[in-house]
Amino acid sequence: MSATKLQEIGQILREHQRFAILGHVRPDGDALGSQLALALSLQALGKEVRVWNEDGMLEKYSFLPRAELLTKPPSTPEDFDVAVALDTAIQSRLGTALTAIRSAKIWINIDHHLSNPGYGDVACVDSSAPATAEIIFHLIKGQGLPLNRDIAENLYAAISTDTGSFQYPKTSAHTFEIAAELIRTGLDVGHLSQQLYENYPRRRLELLRELLRDMRFQQKDRVASFSLTLKAAAELGVLPEDNEGLIDHLRAVRGVIVAAFFEELADGKVRVSMRSKTEAVDACAICQKFGGGGHTLAAGARVRGTLADVEERVLAEVCDRVEAYPPQSS
Ligand code: 5GP
Ligand code: MN
Repeated sequence: MSATKLQEIGQILREHQRFAILGHVRPDGDALGSQLALALSLQALGKEVRVWNEDGMLEKYSFLPRAELLTKPPSTPEDFDVAVALDTAIQSRLGTALTAIRSAKIWINIDHHLSNPGYGDVACVDSSAPATAEIIFHLIKGQGLPLNRDIAENLYAAISTDTGSFQYPKTSAHTFEIAAELIRTGLDVGHLSQQLYENYPRRRLELLRELLRDMRFQQKDRVASFSLTLKAAAELGVLPEDNEGLIDHLRAVRGVIVAAFFEELADGKVRVSMRSKTEAVDACAICQKFGGGGHTLAAGARVRGTLADVEERVLAEVCDRVEAYPPQSS
């Protein structure tokens, strides 16, 4: 991570007054927690802050401190001194949060996605960071911005969720050091973890049952996938946020190298969510072939086509790559 970039960003934050803090569509804990943390720090400096996301605050993260600050963007665009995009690999993934910005003198891009091209006037992209919130922590600490318990709780929730509870490979000693420092502000880790991981609605488990019914294994069980139709989603009454993390059940199976989840969307597209267990099979590269992006081990795309068509095309590509790994001996 570039210290000079963070210094440059720190100076911009101090020198301006009106900010928009934005995150990607279909937000996750990292996007929401990072947005709230930075917004609260700026508010504590006396800045005027809007915190927008196309989907607004999700029910499952509504326990986050000051969650009410995060709203859907207004239909009439507004003017800002500075717009900050967080955890967003390409600018268009800001969705309606992007079109709600009529003007911004400066665009800042803070992210940890490998596929981020570095859009904006000032970009701080560190693909070695396991969560965008880790970069926000460095920005706040390094630039002497306010850090209180509410901010710490948002950062901790973001880091915990984006590292799969401190499990994924980018989780480092440093990540634990940051977590320790956040906990020392007075966080109740047990309570926070319960709210993050033991507070799902029953329908999420009913959704999992539905997905597992038709799960598929290919390539000698090295590729696992399941799909959700619009019809099944409607019958179960599930929200888009309910399926976050369910793909981990496929990834957790011994021998599985790539897991894929296909979700039929109302706009004639299919949302693809992909996980790989090895850098040798690059999920980001596969998803980029279909117009998406992300990280080497966790990536996604929205692909136009029917569910069956997208499944077939994407799984063919996955199977090709998995077949080449590890090299077959015969
Ligand atoms: P998830 O499967 O959890 O939705 O996403 C995994 C990763 O892939 C996330 O880091 C996310 O930002 C990225 N990702 C998911 N969907 C898309 C997409 O449609 N386009 C791009 N560029 N990245 C995506
Ligand atoms: Mn993230």
